[in-house]
Amino acid sequence: MTRAFPGPATCGLTVVIPCFNEVDNVGPSYREITNELSDYSLELFYIDDGSTDGTLGEIRTLAAADPRVRYVSFSRNFGFEAAFSAGYRYASQPWVLHIDADQQFPAAESHKLIAAAEQGYDAVFGVRTNRQDPRLRRWGTAAFHFIGARLLRIEIPPGATAFRLVRAELARKIVDLRLGTPYFLATVPRLTSRYTCVQVAHRARERGESKVGMSFLSSHAIELFVGFTRRLTTVASATALFAAGFGVLAAAAAASGLLGSSATAVTLFMLLTVLLLVLSLTVRYLVVVGAGQPKPRQFYIREANVVVDVEDRLFTTEDPEGPRRIDVQLGKGISA
Ligand code: UDP
Ligand code: MG
Repeated sequence: MTRAFPGPATCGLTVVIPCFNEVDNVGPSYREITNELSDYSLELFYIDDGSTDGTLGEIRTLAAADPRVRYVSFSRNFGFEAAFSAGYRYASQPWVLHIDADQQFPAAESHKLIAAAEQGYDAVFGVRTNRQDPRLRRWGTAAFHFIGARLLRIEIPPGATAFRLVRAELARKIVDLRLGTPYFLATVPRLTSRYTCVQVAHRARERGESKVGMSFLSSHAIELFVGFTRRLTTVASATALFAAGFGVLAAAAAASGLLGSSATAVTLFMLLTVLLLVLSLTVRYLVVVGAGQPKPRQFYIREANVVVDVEDRLFTTEDPEGPRRIDVQLGKGISA
């Protein structure tokens, strides 16, 4: 007898909402999500990623009024990868639906992800049909996919975004890997072939600014290019070897008087060539070995209304300023 697939519609879902300085978006996005998804067994999990505006206050207000609202608040800004990792780690429902706080992904589009997941997938990614972001961002994403998927042949669900529905166990396995170069989109295909993409609508941001700059996105992309394949570093090493061979030949030609160079210039040239080779191979070694190392902890929680592990907490003692400042309950491994 085959058991029914434990899909999100019947088993319930945690909506993970990372927030960094989204004071004006927390309320409207809460209303949009709850209007759309309240028919499901629902948890709303907010991650305050070290906001410095009133975001945490807004989240506390929601949590006080709605028992489905859970949250953690980081001790500083750790970045969106850390934010959604914490959400996946502490989600209580069997599926996690990741929605940004800025309403760029309409909550109504979640039904498409849910319907696709019900077909028996472990992960479903939203792909924007009419992306409403600045041109530079759109070109950057196109270049990212071209280099990552086409040139370097890294398996990335085509066009996939952070708007996604994933089995919580799978999401947690990925978080627990603590990859030296974490990249959720590219890690899913390494663990399961049962993923798919569906087209979804997209909106321009109406309130607040994008928190993700081009410099961050470029360095994140480079981490993927060196961390998920050896092709790039292999090409670099091959180029270094080729340059070294060429250097030695040129130096030999110079030494034999063909180029009319002095002996000192020839020696310097050869030394430089060997140095270039050693440097390139060392960098390659560091990158390849370094990328394989698990990363140390990526976030610390200062406040939460869920039980969090002791290792994720910045402090294990109560805050002297009173209960308002610390709602963290005792986590695993701490005696009451
Ligand atoms: N975000 C976060 N920490 C950060 C940057 C962003 O939690 O350091 C959140 C942000 O509040 C939003 C989501 O991640 O809910 C996506 O960020 P954003 O809208 O700025 O990215 P974009 O849509 O421009 O790619
Ligand atoms: Mg956005």
